[in-house]
Amino acid sequence: MTAICSICRGDAENLGADGREAGGFNLCDKCRKDFELKNAASLVPLLDRYSEPVMVVDSAGRLLSCNRLAEGVLGRRLIGIRGLLPGEFMKCGVATKHTGCGRGVKCGDCNLRQAIRTTFNEGRPIQKLPVALDAIHNGKVSIRRFTLSTQKVGEVVQLRIEDDGYLPVY
Ligand SMILES: [Zn+2]
Repeated sequence: MTAICSICRGDAENLGADGREAGGFNLCDKCRKDFELKNAASLVPLLDRYSEPVMVVDSAGRLLSCNRLAEGVLGRRLIGIRGLLPGEFMKCGVATKHTGCGRGVKCGDCNLRQAIRTTFNEGRPIQKLPVALDAIHNGKVSIRRFTLSTQKVGEVVQLRIEDDGYLPVY
């Protein structure tokens, strides 16, 4: 089954092996090789060719790079958030207010961290996983909800955040 490469719009392998709609990344062989050859710091021009927000993290989930659209979603420039853990750059309430990302009581159940780990360890993409994080939004205790798609490329994991929004908690 073929799909369109997320970078060059050429033919690519469809990652949705079971035929479901691909919510993640499709890369043709050439773009995948380009990607694997570059180190994280020089990935920005390549990432900017994606038409959607894309982030790149290491095996621990630390932010290595992202494109300009992702800077919009994250609300900060890459220079100020590079090296942060997922809960930190996604502004999770547990990570920013209490114990730090990965060290809170709820962190064991965090599917954001789990998805990154699984993708890195098993090399298997994840498509449109629903994620909910504690958050403060406009001064209100809220839940930040979004869907996460992941893909391992070389020794990094690409992340895509979609349908990002906040629900106030009453
Ligand atoms: Zn391509």
